[in-house]
Amino acid sequence: MKRLIIPLFMTAVLLLGGCAHKETTPRNVILIVGDGMGVAQVYASVVASRGDNSAFLRFPVTGFSRTYSLNKYRTDSSAGGTALTTGQKVENYHVNWAPDSTRYQTIFDDAVAAGKSTGFVVVSDAMDATPAATYGHVPYRKMYDTLSIQLAQCSHSVMIGGGYKYFLPENRKDGFAPLDTLHRRGYTVVRDLDSALAFGGDKLVALLYDGDPLGEPERGDVLRPASMKAIEMLNHNSKGFTMLIEGSQIDWACHNNDSAYLHAELADFELMLHAVLDWAEKDGNTLVVVTADHETGGLTLPDGDIEAGINNVRFQWGNHTGCMVPVFAYGPGAERFSGIQQNTDIPRKIREIMNW
Ligand SMILES: [Zn+2]
Repeated sequence: MKRLIIPLFMTAVLLLGGCAHKETTPRNVILIVGDGMGVAQVYASVVASRGDNSAFLRFPVTGFSRTYSLNKYRTDSSAGGTALTTGQKVENYHVNWAPDSTRYQTIFDDAVAAGKSTGFVVVSDAMDATPAATYGHVPYRKMYDTLSIQLAQCSHSVMIGGGYKYFLPENRKDGFAPLDTLHRRGYTVVRDLDSALAFGGDKLVALLYDGDPLGEPERGDVLRPASMKAIEMLNHNSKGFTMLIEGSQIDWACHNNDSAYLHAELADFELMLHAVLDWAEKDGNTLVVVTADHETGGLTLPDGDIEAGINNVRFQWGNHTGCMVPVFAYGPGAERFSGIQQNTDIPRKIREIMNW
């Protein structure tokens, strides 16, 4: 009997080991968007990080994404966000919304259907175009009254950003109170980072600012700890998670043609990226994809000082451009993100990798 059991045991170990080796479907997906972050913004960050310290240098796979929308050479963040979350090009100012009013399904819907937890962390308000593209469906991105209701009814477990005032009836035309909806649905709503970080439950909405979050350096170290808190919470689900993190104000700094603001936002983004990559390396089962919805500012870097980590930047103008943007990938399935791809290919590839 013993002679039979041991070979059976060995066979089982070999089979299990063989399966584990072939398995390339990651448990988790972290989609990270640097809003307005083109190649020049990334290189400015690499230079400013001096030497080999930039988190961007840690990605084994790089590619490009073509960002044009359904009706414009230059996308806005709602069509750009929609492309990244649904795999569909839509018209500018539409969020997950087709010209014939079809509501497009997102990779976050797919993740929830697969039993995973979902969420987002942004440093814009929670109804801004990119986070809205993870839960909303509207024909016009500024429909905050509608988006805040959709947020309060969505499936995310963790949502961190700004825009608290839109959840109160006194600040709305329709008199609704999405804050009550959130409470009724079992969310804890907090107003400051310390309370968010100390939270021990499973459903959290952290609206850290009345309106838009502050810019860097005034905001301080928010994006990194908020992102790591969300990862910790979402990771409680044994089936894994899918989340969005956005460096929202890289775009705003470039709209303002403000070099100091841009460098501060990029440094903040780098801090978050390092922390997420450290976590993903330890986890070993997480796909991390970093890209942008579009480039902003037509940024060029005509000169600088490599030793001192200084960029002398020049902006073309205060709006988005049509230039393709970089893509960085790490983890199981990362190799699929190399080459020049459509923005809509990114969620398509995520769906293939995840078998959704
Ligand atoms: Zn913008």
